[in-house]
Amino acid sequence: MLDLPLPVAQVSIDPEVWIPAAQIRWPSAEQTVVVLEGRDQAEADILRVVEGRYEFRFAQVDDRLVVIVGLGPGFAREPRAVEFLAAHESFHVAAQIYGAKIPVNYLDMDPELARTYTDGVAFEGFYDAIDVMHEGLAAGGGDAGCDALSRAYEKLPEDARTYIAYKAFWEWPAEFYSYSIAFSARPNEYEGFRANLFRENAGFRLYTSGVKAAQLLEAKLARSEWQTRVANGQSMLSLLAATYNCEIRLQEQSPLTILRLDGM
Ligand SMILES: [Zn+2]
Repeated sequence: MLDLPLPVAQVSIDPEVWIPAAQIRWPSAEQTVVVLEGRDQAEADILRVVEGRYEFRFAQVDDRLVVIVGLGPGFAREPRAVEFLAAHESFHVAAQIYGAKIPVNYLDMDPELARTYTDGVAFEGFYDAIDVMHEGLAAGGGDAGCDALSRAYEKLPEDARTYIAYKAFWEWPAEFYSYSIAFSARPNEYEGFRANLFRENAGFRLYTSGVKAAQLLEAKLARSEWQTRVANGQSMLSLLAATYNCEIRLQEQSPLTILRLDGM
C-alpha cells in the first residue's frame, strides 16, 4: 500500500447540495476523497507534479479516491480557498467520474483546442449572454429568454463550440457544488474570490457562468430533477438550452459509466 502524505483536505459529498450523491460508486466505506498536494521532487510517481504549472489529477489508489493538485504558479492559501478548491476537485472525481454517466464525446479533448481557447476570449459574448439571462432572473423579471445566448452560441466557430460544450459539461456542476459549499452564505463574495483564486485566471468566467446556469436551472426545475438528469449524462448547457428554449443543439453521444480510474 502506498504511503500517502498528510492530506490537504478530506472531502465527502454533501447530498443536500448534490442530490445524486448516493449514486457515487465509492471504492470503500470511507466515502471521502483525499486531496493531496504534489511536489516536483516527490518520490512517488503519483505525487510528482511539474513545477511552475497548475495540475489537477484524479486517481483511485487502492480503495481511495485521490486528487493530486499542483499549485506551483501560486494560490491564495486561506482556509476558504482550500475548502473551495478541495470541494471542486473532489466533485470531479467522486460525483462525476465515479458517480455519473459521461457521454463519450466528453471523455477527452484535443489538446490543441485547449491551447486555443483556454484564455476564454472567444467566449466573452457567450458569458455576457448568460449574465443577461441571470440578471433578468435576479431582477425578478421572470424569463429573460434565450435569444442572446442562442445568437452568441451561433457566432462561435465549430471547434469553439466543441470546447465550451466539453468544459461546461465538466466544470459547471463542479463549480455549482463548490460555490454552494463555500459561498451560499455570502454569495456576493464569490465572484471577486474566484477572479483571484489562481494567478493565471484568465478563463474564470467559465466557472462563474456555471453557478449562474445552475441558478437559472433551479428557477425552473427542482434540484433533484436537474441533478438527476446531469448525473445521467446530460450536460447543464444542454439542459439550460432545453429548459429556456434556446436554439442550441449539442451533439451529446451516448453516456457511459466509467468503472475504474486507473491509479498512476
Ligand atoms: Zn474543475
